[in-house]
Amino acid sequence: MRFDIITIFPGMFTGVFSGGVVKRALDRGLVRIAVHDLRDHTQDKHRQVDDRPFGGLEGMVLKPEPIFRAVEAVREDGGGRVCLLSPQGRLLDARLARELAGERQVILICGRYEGVDERVAERLADDEISIGDYVLSGGELPAAVVVDATARFVPGVVGKEGSVRRDSFAAGLLGHPQYTRPREFRGMRVPQVLFSGDHGKIESWRRRKALEKTARRRPDLVRDERLAPEDRRLLEELANERKDE
Ligand code: SAM
Repeated sequence: MRFDIITIFPGMFTGVFSGGVVKRALDRGLVRIAVHDLRDHTQDKHRQVDDRPFGGLEGMVLKPEPIFRAVEAVREDGGGRVCLLSPQGRLLDARLARELAGERQVILICGRYEGVDERVAERLADDEISIGDYVLSGGELPAAVVVDATARFVPGVVGKEGSVRRDSFAAGLLGHPQYTRPREFRGMRVPQVLFSGDHGKIESWRRRKALEKTARRRPDLVRDERLAPEDRRLLEELANERKDE
């Protein structure tokens, strides 16, 4: 799968993909990332990408022409899913990341200043994507977040498939707690069940802990009716235990 990032600050991406899972995926040819300077798609001698907003407000807005031209230039076979990073967009979650991972090409447009001429959202972008209910100064960090979250769902990118399935949100819940050596640290002991060697018991402990954490921190997630009947039963058990405490 291929990501094309359109930005006025291409240099911002040199560090962010230079290590870890995404770097390994790039080295193994599982994903490709091309960063394009929006100014290369201007046609005037000042390479102007922004202008003042009509209606007399302060600040600058990214102009539509270079963005349309950049997208048209990077599209493979006239396709590609065009995503505009915007605080007004659909919130990025695991479902959206997995959906994007099914695309052959995702084109990410990074806004700046006061934002992007609305005609880009109306006529060019297939999606507007937000990474949270706050405003950042530009779409570069959000684009890097979208690439990382999406790449994890591309088959083969994360070493062991199981670890993606166990990640928070992948199966609708927060992840279970994890422990490593030492067995005891400053009086804090690793739960005994993890040394039992009984994989069935360990699995059900993990599921229970994931449900417990999710019910406490993100009750909105456990209200999802796609929970398995076994999970519902465990949740009721946990709620009863809490009542008894
Ligand atoms: N005036 C715009 C508004 O209120 O919606 C915000 C513009 S923001 C300062 C500049 C650019 O940063 C946006 O065009 C967008 O590309 C990016 N951006 C800022 N916050 C974002 C977020 N939460 N998610 C995705 N992109 C964001």
